[in-house]
Amino acid sequence: MQQRPKRYLGIRSEDRRPIQPREYGLLVAMGLALAILVARLWYLQVLHGEELAARAELVRTRLMRIAPPRGMIVDRAGRTLATNRTQIVISVLPDLLRRQPQRIPLVASRLNLAPEELHQLVMNPRINPYVPLVVQKGVSYQQAVELLESQYNLPEVEVSLQTMRWYPEGKVFAHVVGYVGQISDEELKAYRGETETASAADTSLITLHARYDGTDFVGKNGLERQYERYLHGIPGGEQVEVTPVGRRVRTLQQIEPTPGAKLVLTLDARLQRRAYELLQGHVGALVALDPRTGEVLACVSQPSFDPNLFVPRIPATVWRALLNDPRAPLNNRAIQSAYAPGSTIKPFFALAGLETGVLTTRTALTCPGGYQLGRRFFRCWRRHGFVDFYDSIAHSCDTFYYITGQKLGPERLAHWARAFGLGAATGIDLPHERKGLVPDPDWKRAVYKQPWFGGETLNYGIGQGYLLVTPLQMAVATMGIANRGVLYRPHLVRQIIAPNGEVLYTAQPEVIHRVRASQAHWDAVIAGMVQVVERGTARRAKLNGITVAGKTGSAEFRKGGKTHAWFIAFAPAENPRVALCVMAEEAGHGGEVAVPIATEWLKTFFGQTPENFISYEKAQARRAPPESAPLAARIRRVEAIAPHRRGHAPAGDAPR
Ligand SMILES: [Zn+2]
Repeated sequence: MQQRPKRYLGIRSEDRRPIQPREYGLLVAMGLALAILVARLWYLQVLHGEELAARAELVRTRLMRIAPPRGMIVDRAGRTLATNRTQIVISVLPDLLRRQPQRIPLVASRLNLAPEELHQLVMNPRINPYVPLVVQKGVSYQQAVELLESQYNLPEVEVSLQTMRWYPEGKVFAHVVGYVGQISDEELKAYRGETETASAADTSLITLHARYDGTDFVGKNGLERQYERYLHGIPGGEQVEVTPVGRRVRTLQQIEPTPGAKLVLTLDARLQRRAYELLQGHVGALVALDPRTGEVLACVSQPSFDPNLFVPRIPATVWRALLNDPRAPLNNRAIQSAYAPGSTIKPFFALAGLETGVLTTRTALTCPGGYQLGRRFFRCWRRHGFVDFYDSIAHSCDTFYYITGQKLGPERLAHWARAFGLGAATGIDLPHERKGLVPDPDWKRAVYKQPWFGGETLNYGIGQGYLLVTPLQMAVATMGIANRGVLYRPHLVRQIIAPNGEVLYTAQPEVIHRVRASQAHWDAVIAGMVQVVERGTARRAKLNGITVAGKTGSAEFRKGGKTHAWFIAFAPAENPRVALCVMAEEAGHGGEVAVPIATEWLKTFFGQTPENFISYEKAQARRAPPESAPLAARIRRVEAIAPHRRGHAPAGDAPR
């Protein structure tokens, strides 16, 4: 018979049995756990009752981030180039679709989206699934009404008003202003690392939210990217009450975001538009600078693209079409394409010749239509006959520069090309600038494992061969001649202004290169360039009352194909206010294609200057009767610049 237990666990009578010694440990542990539970309950309910109640409240409220309005971008006269526009947008609630992915095809069909596309957007691990995700913008009122009417069976869809980036000038400024797009993982990491400074002690609503968020838009290209930190702004926050599925009921507390700063550009929208029109149909670029400061007045690359296509995201088909377009519309040819400069290099090597003593302003030769080197005959583009220093620039005699190049040699040619900033990035305030190439024998040995050949030096002298320059570099180098040696850094932003009106940044002219040469030699080269327009290869560039100095170029590109057409110019020659470069790929001769574009643009420039004043020169011309602004006056001006020119009237008549 079983012994009667002395002590009981007291749970069920039939289980009554004495506690075995090994069970004591278990009992102690259970008792201890119970004690801790009771203590915890007392702690929570009595000591922290209020706090707990507040926490329960938070279950039904949510802290929402308010993205800051992006800073505006305006031209030098305040014309809007990038702004934010309120429009009707359709969003989906990713959280709901993630929980019911079988509804994705239905929702997608109602929104005219491909189911796979919507699936991809919603499942993106980077997004916050509780924040409505914009899938369509610029929705018509009619479409919005239809969706709102059917919303009872589409709880995942929201119709709302939202501000989106808007580029009113579209294609005209696309390469310079750039565009925004949804932030990438790398960008989020990079921008957070840079800007997150909120301290742990600071618990205000704003600092609960990072300055950058996975739902943000950031500059992807152009100035939008370059000045992202200024344009972005500081987010605000709000505490809202939401329904269990995440729909907002009411706002409890709100802190307004701080908008981004405004960029005031150096560009003039009218000059930019004119350049865009003139280059239409060509593949090329126009860059115009104020030589007194380095301010970029116009910078156009053709063909172009509509930056509005990228906001909020570019459809895959459109993106592929842009990428596969053989004319590469996304490429900013002003800074990202490098070409042989052709004869536009001649004024620079003419100066090099004068400074090194290889040439004088009295150097002359007879051009028989080319130059014999060893067994090879290097052609001139025509049989020029007698050519002096000024003719060599005005009529672009290749023979003259084959010999000049040969006498200077590749090292000195490279030295002088680099002196004018070629072969190096100009440092313009845009991403992805190419630096081109200034070759020399060391470079060739390193890259091709070959020595430099004499024939290469000859081609170097006329801007053919390995030498590669961007249109921007040529505009900057032209500014160097216009300024007699001073090259300023080209820049696009004049001022950055905070929302409270405080000026955060004002651009100052910054010298990037200083070319030292005697005044007489600058005079001679500039006189040669004036004669290019007065009586040489760019006679179409003549303007009423304004002396234009220029140089044409026709760079060979493909054997048998058309040449790249170049024209560099500055004006007025005596007191330059603009330096420019026009380049059109495979368009033909510089004089026939690039010169008319530059001339029409210069007419716009001098007709209506960026400051809205007419030019001094134009005012003078208007004051005088038209017949009395004669050729003779222009010739005198040329003579004044070219004191070394042999004593006869150079303008108008054909050279010898
Ligand atoms: Zn010649």
